[in-house]
Order: sequence, then C-alpha cells, then structure tokens
Amino acid sequence: MASTRFNALNHVLNRKKTEPIFNNKPISESFGSNVFNLGTMKKYLTPEAYNSVIQAINHGTKINEPVADQIATAMKIWAMSKKVTHYTHWFQPLTGGTAEKHDAFFEPDHMGGTIEKFEGKLLIQQEPDASSFPSGGIRNTFEARGYTAWDPTSPAFIIGRTLCIPTIFVAYTGEALDYKTPLLRALHAVDQAAVDVCRYFDPNVKKVNATLGWEQEYFLVDSALFNARPDLVLTGRALIGQSPAKGQQLDDHYFGSIPERVLHFMHELEQECYLLGIPVKTRHNEVAPGQYELAPVFEECNISVDHNSLLMDVMDKVARRHHFRVLLHEKPFAEINGSGKHNNWSLATDTGKNLLSPGETPESNLQFLAFFINTIKAMDTYGDLVRASIACAGNDHRLGANEAPPAIISVFIGSQLTQLLNDLEEMKFLTSSQSDDKKSNQRLNVVEKVPEIRLDNTDRNRTSPFAFTGNKFELRAVGSSSNCAEPMTVLNTIVAQQLKDFKNAVDVMLEFGVRKEEAMFSVLKEYIKSSKNVRFEGDGYSDEWLKIAESRGLKNVKTTPYALGFYVTDSALDLFEKNEVMSRVESMARHHIQLEKYQMRIQIESRVLGDLAGNHIVPAAVKYQNTLIENVKALKDTLEESDYRKVAQEQVELIKEISERVSSIIADKEAMIEARKGINKTEDIREKATAYCDEVKPYLDSIRYQVDKLEMLVDDDLWPLPKYRELLYSK
Ligand code: ADP
Ligand code: MG
Repeated sequence: MASTRFNALNHVLNRKKTEPIFNNKPISESFGSNVFNLGTMKKYLTPEAYNSVIQAINHGTKINEPVADQIATAMKIWAMSKKVTHYTHWFQPLTGGTAEKHDAFFEPDHMGGTIEKFEGKLLIQQEPDASSFPSGGIRNTFEARGYTAWDPTSPAFIIGRTLCIPTIFVAYTGEALDYKTPLLRALHAVDQAAVDVCRYFDPNVKKVNATLGWEQEYFLVDSALFNARPDLVLTGRALIGQSPAKGQQLDDHYFGSIPERVLHFMHELEQECYLLGIPVKTRHNEVAPGQYELAPVFEECNISVDHNSLLMDVMDKVARRHHFRVLLHEKPFAEINGSGKHNNWSLATDTGKNLLSPGETPESNLQFLAFFINTIKAMDTYGDLVRASIACAGNDHRLGANEAPPAIISVFIGSQLTQLLNDLEEMKFLTSSQSDDKKSNQRLNVVEKVPEIRLDNTDRNRTSPFAFTGNKFELRAVGSSSNCAEPMTVLNTIVAQQLKDFKNAVDVMLEFGVRKEEAMFSVLKEYIKSSKNVRFEGDGYSDEWLKIAESRGLKNVKTTPYALGFYVTDSALDLFEKNEVMSRVESMARHHIQLEKYQMRIQIESRVLGDLAGNHIVPAAVKYQNTLIENVKALKDTLEESDYRKVAQEQVELIKEISERVSSIIADKEAMIEARKGINKTEDIREKATAYCDEVKPYLDSIRYQVDKLEMLVDDDLWPLPKYRELLYSK
C-alpha cells in the first residue's frame, strides 16, 4: 500500500476549514498601518528631518548623521508602540528571495540593566555575516564583508515583532551584491534622461519616476500533498506526473468562482498586504486548475519591486496557515499552463503626467509619441538584454510553450498606433534649408499635424512579450518567481540610453536652426523606420511567427545559459557601465552567479528525479509487474492451454511493456549520473551550465516520459506519489 500518498489524501479529506481573520474595519483604516510611511513620518519627525527624507526620495540627497539619529529614534518609538522588539536590514540578495538578520533594540546600560536603543548609524549601515551569499567572485568568502545600507526611498515596515528596513547590499569594495542597487541606479538614469526630454515640452518637470504594476500568478497545493511529493518540496515543480483527463481544456477555471478555502487564504493575504501598504486590488482564478492571480495598483518602480518581493514572502507564510503551499515556479506542472508575472511599466512626471498616455492636445501627443517611439526603438536595439533579464531555469519551460510569449522579443502596439506610425513615416517635413518665405507659405504647423489619438482599449494582444496597453507597456515574459528588479533594471537602462541618444540627435538639429518640433519629428520618423523589425501584431504563439522572426533576424534563444550570454557582450557591458548601472566587474559577477544558479537547479532536479525514479517509481512498477506475473502463472495452472493463451496474452504484453519502460528508466538514470560526473569536472561555469542544459536536461524529459507512461499502467493503489488530479483539484 502506497501509504504516504493515501495518508496525505486522507489528511486533505479530514482537514478542518481554516477561518480567515476578518478585520471588519474599512481597508482605508488599516492600510499602511505597519509602514513608517510619509504620513507617519510627518507625525514623528521634526520638519527638518521630514524634509530631509523628502529630499532624499525626490533628489537622492544624503541624509546626514544627526538627522539619521532622529529618524532612527522616531522609527524605534513608533515601532515600539506597535510592540516591536527587533529590527533588521531587509535586502534582496542574488540567491533570490529576501534576507534579514534580526537584532534586538535593547543594549546594556552598563548599570546592570538595558535600554532600548536604535541609532542613526545602525539605521544607515550594517555588516551582516554575509559569507554565504553569492558574490560571483567579487568578495572573497573568507573576508565575508558585505554591507547593507539604508534605502530611504522605500519605507520601513513591520512584520510580526520586527521592524524591517529596506536596504541595498554591497561588497566591502562597493560592488552591488543584490537586486536593488542596480535597479536604483537604472531608475536614476531613466529619471535624468527622461527629464531632459520632458524639458522640450515643459520646463517645470524636475523628476520622472518609472512606474510598475505587476500581476503575480501562482498555484496553491494542499500542504499534505505537497509534502508527499519530494520533487515539489525540493525543486518547486512536479518532475513527473501524467496530466489529468480533465485539464484546462474546458477553460472553466478562468475567472470561475474561487473555492472557499482559497478565498479564506486570499482574504487573509490581502489583509496582511494592506497592513504593509501593498495596494492589492485584483484577485481571480487563472487558466489552470489550482492557479490564481493577484495584482496591486501600480506604484513607483522601486517600491513596487520591494512590495512584490515582500508579497512573495507573505504569501508563503499565509498559505502555510491555511495548510496550503504556494508554488511560484514558472512551470510546476508540465502540460498545464505555467505562471508568469506581467510587469506593467510606464514613466510619470512629478507634474502628474503619465508619459505613455496619449493626452488630449497635439503638444502632449508629440510628447507621448517621443516616449512611445523611443521605447520601441530601445526594444529594437536592446531586445536581447530584455530576453536575458527574464532568463531562468523555470522560465525556459514556459516561454514559447503556447501559453506565454515565445523567447523572441517583439513589440505589439495595436492597429491604431500601427496606422499612426505608418502615417508619420509617410509625412513630409520641411527642413530649415528651404527659404523662410517658402516655409511660412507652405508650412502647416507640424504640431497641428499630430493626429488626435483616441485609443481603443479592446485592441489587445495577449501573445506578445511586450505590448502597449493604452497608457503603459506590459512586459509579459517575466517568470512568476523572478525578482522584478532584474527586468526593470534592464528596461529602464535601455530606455534611458535611448532617450539620451534621442536628445543628442535632436539637439544637433536644433544647433543647425531646425525648429524643435520638426527636429523631433524627423528623428522619430527615422526611429519608426529603423525599428520596424521588432514590431509584430500577429499571433506570437504561431509557428508562422517563428519563421517571420527568423527572416527578420530576430533571435529565438530558448534556454537560459545562452540567453545570459547577451549580458556579457561588449556592447552590453558598455551600456551598463556608461549608464552607471553596473560596472564591468558587477556585470561579469552577476553573469557568473546566474549561470551557477541555473546549473545548480538542473543538477538538483536531476538528482531528485533520479531518486524518485529509482526509489519510488521503479519499485512500484516492479511490484505491480510481479502481481501480474503471479496472476499469469496462476492462470496457466488453472486454465486449459488454449484458453490460457487467449486470456493471458494481454497481461503478458503488459508485463513486457512495464519491463521495457523500467529498463529504459534505469538506463537513462545511469547515463544521467555519468553525464553529471563528467560535466562536474568542468571548471568554467559557462561551459558547465551549457553542458547541464544540453546534456543533462534531456534526461529529465526522457525519464519523465517513461515514468508518466507507467503511471497509466500501474495499479493506482500502488502508485506512491500524489497524482496531478489530486494535487490540482484537492482543495
Ligand atoms: P490586464 O493586463 O489583466 O488586462 P489591467 O490592464 O487592468 O490588467 O492592468 C494591469 C496592471 O497595469 C495593473 O496592475 C495596474 O496597476 C497596472 N498599471 C496601470 N497603469 C499603469 C501605469 N501607468 N504604470 C504601471 N502600471 C500600470
Ligand atoms: Mg496583464
């Protein structure tokens, strides 16, 4: 009897319902109450200290130590009023996830007692024992010196009894060892570049913020069933499993009603989010059974990224309270839709304008067109880097699997804007070389030529990796487990660079006396032409697109180690360096860490599958086979020869099929181990990661294929692991 599986199933059946902790207050009353946000700061800080924080947020100015002392004391008093005893620098190391090391507020008072103390210098900088975080060779482990430094632009928050202070994490020598540092630098670069372009239109613009609204997809699995699947526990995905007869073919899960237990989980999760100031707004079922989505209102990019990282932690904690486990893996179940994390992105000025919103007047239309076309141009020039930014082992299963955009980077803008760009491309402009007379006679004000843009919001394409959706672009290829910081670092950097190039080109024309609008139009017109290749309005999931893309020279890089290679080309290294987002050393270190991470994940999957196949599946199959053999023998003893031949034939075939499949599994498992042994001798991490991709990963598929066939043959009672239908439908 396969007791683990059946125990787990019994557990699920007998589970008592968990009740959500209902907070009957309106959301507005609890929202942000565990956050040291501007409102709270205003109450607790002197006007001087408060202004200092505002200046730091808006202009990146430094907060001096006396002011930091004041802020630290205020934070401590506020936190203690909420029963907080500890504080931690909260950061996002390159391992993924978040890290924290808690310290108590108290210090000895040297009179035998203690006092609660928190000083500015502890707020500003700490040195966690960080020797086990990856550094890609930047920091010698024996030195173990990494520093966390306060990010005053993202507010501190309380989890349980701990005050969490968002920080960056850098090496002793100053190189970034986390996701946040390059993101902050990229946001600064795009701010400066975008402000410069905005000033053509409005001299009052002083700051441009990138905005991000993510949509998080995830699966929920009952924790008893989860625990009975070593592959889910150790790798986050089902390495084996036959997809159920009722999969997602009927699409009945999508926007269907949410099961009560799941709803209780969601409700509590939302309450937690509100306390933390995460503006969660939308929840619904996703396409696959057991799959859900949650999305907040968009926010400034850095805060939004922090909120997503925080959310992933909080989700895990709340799910456990409801005896669920959250799967954030991009493809936990083969054959069933995987999970992504759409990143909706735009740029907003401090004057309250969304730069990707077409606006009402021709002037604002031109500004819109400038940002819109420059973004497309950036995707055309640097699409490879966007591809690299979404690369991870999990996402390889999802991209191009008819459920997510392919690994080809393209831009969708809808038929109206396509028409508009076509018209603009055709438009003739007067140049300053023509005589002034002629100009005043002939000239139609260029600005007046800008057509009114009324967007039809139904013009959507869900198969494009980067789609314009009315007033923002939506990067759809991001994986569900990713830290949004990485794609956002790349997107903001490439747009920053592109806006700088645009401004330079326009300024050169201005020097030659060309009118501002004409100069902008002629540069944009050139961009429309030169970036046509990256635009695609058709079905991104179709085979036809693969052919078209190839003929356009667009790359279709399907696996992570190859995609990561785009990060370390000379032009990529230059780009990050020039924009002061990452030095060469930092880029190379990151590349190294990501390859290592990839290689280790495949290695772990390969080991886990080897164990599962060897210790769980093969024994179950052999047991069943023995039952069949016994049966055949018994038939032979009981029946007449001629009857026996008729009856036993099918069972003999089954016995043969099982042994063939078992032999194939054993042979592949041995070969897989040998392949790993060989590759593990390789020193070079790029070689090692690509070898794991090309030589080890195929065994994961071939072994799985046989195991999944066996699942259909072996007696259900003997099957040791919870099946897909149980994992997906038991709620
Ligand atoms: P869907 O993609 O499911 O159709 P919506 O179009 O309703 O969803 O919005 C998706 C997301 O876009 C939301 O999370 C929202 O916060 C975000 N969003 C809306 N406007 C902006 C903006 N200006 N910048 C960034 N994100 C935005
Ligand atoms: Mg979306």
